[in-house]
Amino acid sequence: MAECNDRVIGKILAGWRYDISGLAPEMRGDYEAHLRDCPYCHSRQHLHRGIDIGLMALASASMTVFLLAYGVIRYFQPHHAFWLEIGALGGFLLSMVLWLLVAIATPAPLVVKDAAMTGARMGLDKLPEEIRQRIPEELRVKISGQS
Ligand SMILES: [Zn+2]
Repeated sequence: MAECNDRVIGKILAGWRYDISGLAPEMRGDYEAHLRDCPYCHSRQHLHRGIDIGLMALASASMTVFLLAYGVIRYFQPHHAFWLEIGALGGFLLSMVLWLLVAIATPAPLVVKDAAMTGARMGLDKLPEEIRQRIPEELRVKISGQS
């Protein structure tokens, strides 16, 4: 657990923040095998995805708080209400920009999408055959496919 069992692959993976979702499937093989077999890189990958999702959750919470603050200021109309409103809206916008940056720069949305796909796949498997046949071919292949 303390060290990577293949320094070369481990370094490459670390450079990508342990995200191989951008690679073509045929190029992923070695990296996937390493992530599976190396407990160090495996836990690092989990940590990084946890951080990404945590950041998005934090930005979402922050957006909510600023929006709430804006509502409270509007409702109670305290002194300097205008500047407080500007501050609350500014905080909201900043949180939104942060959320977008995390969503664009990290594979967090892919992790969420993968989880959704896995759920959809399991649901599809449970459907009776006749209903499954009615789902458009294109959609079925997309859900049951690799990506
Ligand atoms: Zn490793």
